[in-house]
Amino acid sequence: MVDKITFESPKKQVEDTLKRSAIDEKSVIQEVDKILNDALENGATEIHFEPDPEKYLIRVRIGNLLNEVGTVPEKLKGNIANRLKVLGGMDITKSKIPQSGYFKVTKGEKKVELYVYLLPTIYGESITVKISYKVSATMHLNQLGMNPNILNEYIRALAKGAGLYLITGPPGSGKRTTVYASILEVYKSNTLAMGFDPIVKYEIPGMIQGKPEEKSEFTFAEAISSLMKQEPDIAYIGDITNEGEARATIQGAFAKRIVLARMTANDTINAIQNLVDMGVQPFLLAASLTAIINQRLIRKLCPVCKEGYKVSDAIQRELGFKLPENAMFYKAKGCQQCGNTGFSGVAALFELYRPSEELNKMIVAKESIQNIRNEAYKEGLVSLKKDGVAKTLMGLVTLEDVLNAL
Ligand SMILES: [Zn+2]
Repeated sequence: MVDKITFESPKKQVEDTLKRSAIDEKSVIQEVDKILNDALENGATEIHFEPDPEKYLIRVRIGNLLNEVGTVPEKLKGNIANRLKVLGGMDITKSKIPQSGYFKVTKGEKKVELYVYLLPTIYGESITVKISYKVSATMHLNQLGMNPNILNEYIRALAKGAGLYLITGPPGSGKRTTVYASILEVYKSNTLAMGFDPIVKYEIPGMIQGKPEEKSEFTFAEAISSLMKQEPDIAYIGDITNEGEARATIQGAFAKRIVLARMTANDTINAIQNLVDMGVQPFLLAASLTAIINQRLIRKLCPVCKEGYKVSDAIQRELGFKLPENAMFYKAKGCQQCGNTGFSGVAALFELYRPSEELNKMIVAKESIQNIRNEAYKEGLVSLKKDGVAKTLMGLVTLEDVLNAL
């Protein structure tokens, strides 16, 4: 049974105007609503209306794939664009300029934000709708697929409380999910949790969350400072990209609170380097840093049809790890269960950096990143690659996907 979705339009009066003009308008509204509804139903993240001389080609992104879902005839193109302009709070009298807008949809339990972008082309307006799902944060740390050692050590770190926790990885690596699972781990009803992130993807009841508005007068760094002044016990900062943001975040971590921050980095040691390159004083970093996580998301093998193979000596040598005797890796095959893809769901790889006295000393002394990395490995840091190979041995993922993700 499909839930009925309701649209909150920011410009009600424009919609009324459109209703009065009514050229096939009812069917267009139904058409657009159906396209949106189907896309949301399938967990799509983008809808594209691609104009050519005769029609709109409609394509929808689900996972990595852009699937064609249908076409809209030429005579309805303008009406479709108008419907989306109305929903997005844009100007329906203009079709020759780029426009963008946004609206919200409530679908069952889910709150969804849709960002609409229109671009004039020689065959009419090209339209992209980006879909952002806001759901209650329900994933706990023990459901993310961390290996038990990393999980226990990270939970121990969080239990100690105050300090800077960096959640790092490339875009699309599941960092927000880890951030919110961390907040769920430490959040209690008598604590104040606040977050600031350009996209608020998850909600936790009681947590106060903000995001920068497009034309706001203040910088992201100023917003971070302002958030810290409200003295939350737990602060989450979505994406540090420059010195000002890094400094405001680190200063917040000195005041006896847990500061979780998201950042782009290739691995945990690279995250340290990024912050130093941004201009953060190494001694401030060493004094505040409690943990760094780096992570990846990769395809999980279908448990029904995966096929094992013996790891060759050549692969062993190339990996540079000693694997157990008769070690098996697995590859994808495809069956009815997994729609013949060989994969089902996603798995995450994790690397956890915990600073030791020695590592902090090296950071303060501005030693080379390579030396810091070597020391971290010597102290037992499990690299992403090692975590990936362990998960390959467990039959969760393929070696190719692990190596591609690094
Ligand atoms: Zn299968």
